[in-house]
Amino acid sequence: MGRKKQDVGKNIRKALLSSAKGFVQEIADEYEGLEYTQAADTFIMENLKEKPVEIDLQRDGKSLLEAKILWISQNGEGDVVLYLDNKRYLYPTPDTVKKAVFHELKKGQGYIIIETTSDTAKCLICGKPIEIFDEADSCPSCGALSHSVHLDEWVRMKKDCPSCGAKLSMREDGTIMLAA
Ligand SMILES: [Zn+2]
Ligand SMILES: [Zn+2]
Repeated sequence: MGRKKQDVGKNIRKALLSSAKGFVQEIADEYEGLEYTQAADTFIMENLKEKPVEIDLQRDGKSLLEAKILWISQNGEGDVVLYLDNKRYLYPTPDTVKKAVFHELKKGQGYIIIETTSDTAKCLICGKPIEIFDEADSCPSCGALSHSVHLDEWVRMKKDCPSCGAKLSMREDGTIMLAA
């Protein structure tokens, strides 16, 4: 399963980790006639039938999933978020993305291989790796990372950071901040 690994391709890792806009501009250079609609920080892919932006997510040379990108956005911290047509989200970070390469199929069309790893930072609360499928949040005081769902729950109950003990609170939009 999955695409054959090729040696040649354009390295787009930096663009993927930069910003939604930076990544969209980078792939628009590769996909001739790519159409998208921008709404705030979200870029919605259009004419998906004719010009799908396909990705093949791999780990250790094996394909984890192949899907089309429906939209590209960024969260409150400025990190890029990808939403796929199989209803999954990807949260690429420098930690989870080993490689991101665009491969040309024919002129103006191609696909993206994202190579991920599970050898990543571990969640402070559950101890499991924070993978590319997981949304993560950091303590605004010490920067320690946790799965967003776990940190939200923790802060709601204990109102502090499980690592440094700083008093934390949650804004209505879910952002974790230092308690006043
Ligand atoms: Zn966790
Ligand atoms: Zn902390």
